[in-house]
Amino acid sequence: MLTRDDCRRLDREDPLATLRGEFELPDGILYLDGNSLGPLPRAARARALQVLEREWAQGLIRSWNEAGWFALPARLGDRLAPLLGANPGEVVVTDSTSVNLFKVLAAALRLRGDRKAIVSERDGFPTDLYITQGLAGFLGQGHELRLVDDADELPQALGEDAAVLLLNHVHYRTGAMHDMAAMTARAHACGALMVWDLAHSVGAVPVDLNGARADFAVGSTYKYLNAGPGAPAFLLVSARHQAAAVQPLSGWWGHAAPFAMRSGFQPAPGIARFLCGTQPILSLVLVECGLEVFERTDMAAVRAKSLALSDLFIQLVEARCAGRGLELVTPRAHARRGSQVSLRHEHGYPIMQALIARGVIGDYREPHILRFGFAPLYVRYVDVWDAVEQLRDILDSDAWRAPAFQARRAVT
Ligand SMILES: *Cc1c(COP(=O)(O)O)cnc(C)c1O
Repeated sequence: MLTRDDCRRLDREDPLATLRGEFELPDGILYLDGNSLGPLPRAARARALQVLEREWAQGLIRSWNEAGWFALPARLGDRLAPLLGANPGEVVVTDSTSVNLFKVLAAALRLRGDRKAIVSERDGFPTDLYITQGLAGFLGQGHELRLVDDADELPQALGEDAAVLLLNHVHYRTGAMHDMAAMTARAHACGALMVWDLAHSVGAVPVDLNGARADFAVGSTYKYLNAGPGAPAFLLVSARHQAAAVQPLSGWWGHAAPFAMRSGFQPAPGIARFLCGTQPILSLVLVECGLEVFERTDMAAVRAKSLALSDLFIQLVEARCAGRGLELVTPRAHARRGSQVSLRHEHGYPIMQALIARGVIGDYREPHILRFGFAPLYVRYVDVWDAVEQLRDILDSDAWRAPAFQARRAVT
């Protein structure tokens, strides 16, 4: 079994170790929740001030052109594309993941005409299911959300009436990962289009959308990409669909000539047709600061460290917290694991509150799940060791039973 000193040695030998310095992390905090909200890149502070003081205060309206504000969604999309296995011109950064899903799902349903089934997983991320239900109801054309309880049921669910298969690549609660190429092929085999939600994959695991021949994708930037709370999300439309795909939020930023100010809508020729209206520039610019850190490494190195961290966490929990009611939820097989580890415990909520009170920040998801994210750009091996030690102590001492840890807050 590894000791704390062994973990310190692993940190000294870690090729990604210097990247931790690119982030502002509070003293005394072990941050294992980058899967929910990434930390502040140091460069973002200066960049935000530059936008406020120079581009906005001094540049004013001129900055739409001179500071590149107008071109930002596409420029950021091009910069993000390598992390998705996409080409320039296939990705934009805009709107929220929920809104982007609405747009791509609507476009996909139109491309599949008479097919009425949208196949997805019952325990998928709720916003995905809510958006799908809302869109299907709104269209009023008899679309059906067909939910499976297990991926094994997909072959039956994907019949000749399936328009779309919508899946979370890495599951937000369990950390389980789908085989992107295999699932996409399965959707295509029945004539359906594949829509991936990459909220828990981008920046966490290597993604190859074009290698898998995926049709559409959406995902968040404020998680592993460290773009800031509520930062605009991304969407991908494969180049082979762009000419035919139309989305319903036909705002002026998606027009072929927005400043021609014509009365009729004509979609922009490329990915820009998936934009809607004026973007929140202050948060959009900061997406770039998160991406810049990824450009100093590669996803193979990120993945190698991610698996080493989550392996270490599982090993230490099983060795040091055995017999204390914790159950591993996340798959052990590397090919099936994202970059988080989820543990089930009957008293998961107060245990997580007790951890947070000691500066070990993970989060809690219903039902009974303690969730720990391992973002390789800044999490150290010694953090894993120390987090497990706190968890062991909290369980041994019953510290989680304190009344202060029982009350549920709005965000868990
Ligand atoms: C975080 C997350 C979202 C977030 O959607 P928003 O519109 O940004 O609130 C969507 N899907 C999945 C799978 C997520 O994990």
